[in-house]
Amino acid sequence: MDKLDLGIIGVGHLGSIHARLAAQSEKINLVGVFDLDQERAEKAARDSSTECFRDMHALLEKVQGVSIVVPTSEHHSVALKALDYGCHLFLEKPIASSVDQARDIVQKAREKNRKIQVGHIERFNPAILAIKDHPLKPMFIEAHRLSTFNPRGCDVSVVLDLMIHDLDLILYLVKSPVTHVDACGVAVVSREEDIANVRLKFASGCVANITSSRIALSPMRRMRLFQQNQYIALDFQEKKADIFKLTDQDTIPDPGCKPAVVSRIGVGDNARDVIYEKPSPPEVNSLQMELEEFAKAVVHDLEPEVPGEQGLMALETAANILEQIARP
Ligand code: NAD
Repeated sequence: MDKLDLGIIGVGHLGSIHARLAAQSEKINLVGVFDLDQERAEKAARDSSTECFRDMHALLEKVQGVSIVVPTSEHHSVALKALDYGCHLFLEKPIASSVDQARDIVQKAREKNRKIQVGHIERFNPAILAIKDHPLKPMFIEAHRLSTFNPRGCDVSVVLDLMIHDLDLILYLVKSPVTHVDACGVAVVSREEDIANVRLKFASGCVANITSSRIALSPMRRMRLFQQNQYIALDFQEKKADIFKLTDQDTIPDPGCKPAVVSRIGVGDNARDVIYEKPSPPEVNSLQMELEEFAKAVVHDLEPEVPGEQGLMALETAANILEQIARP
């Protein structure tokens, strides 16, 4: 049993890409697709050379895992049904539209001993993969995620649509509980916030300042991390990472990086070199990688890269932020 028998539920914009990549993967056996919109389901099935199911339950009976790519408001009901059939879940982000619904899903998966992987795709961005083994203890983080206007996703706040990517990443990178949230947001062109700024404080002392906008003139997806003697710049759009380190001259640089002294800071005996390191990011298709990691987790009984509990944590943080914004 080397391949995961996978079904895809919801083959709209993103789900049709899931289907195409799953069909190409050597780690996945794409059993079929289902969508309430029969025409869409037939097209996705044709494009991915797989079966089009007219009944979701018939698909659930035939698979070990499902990729759930329906609108977020439907995650809860579809996920619970899939768990009733004993399926493992790949659940797009955010995990659900409310914290209660997300807790329900995580609880039921635990009871049924099924795995959940949440589609926080930026974990598989080459910029993050490039620093995976780099020692991190960030004390200040500045994140910007700006996109030009697109009505898709505007039914929810920018906090749930865009900022949730950075919330998940920052929780993953800082690995410390949030102790304080300070947030503001403005609905400029839609009914929910289109732009938001948040300052999170962590028990470790780290502070993260996050800005997200879906009404920007040009896109940007950047994160800067500052820690003792280091500055790490991540660009998720360019898929690259840059590391600047203060170092003594006799320090041996990390293997696998190309270091270069770019300047010198301080005076006299206290002067230290600033070394620039360019980790080599792996060339991957992030969506294909996250689906294959899910398949690997199920087939080899491993902990998924982004388990349901972490998807829940990101959503709880987003809910705290939305509560702060709503406060008069
Ligand atoms: P979409 O509207 O293009 O597609 C959703 C599809 O689900 C539609 O074809 C619809 O007919 C179908 N559907 C609705 N309810 C259903 C049900 N109960 N059973 C079966 N099919 C049903 O939406 P999308 O943009 O593809 O987004 C889908 C999910 O993916 C959302 O949760 C969204 O937040 C998430 N998403 C994640 C990212 C990311 O960066 N990871 C990006 C975009 C969207």
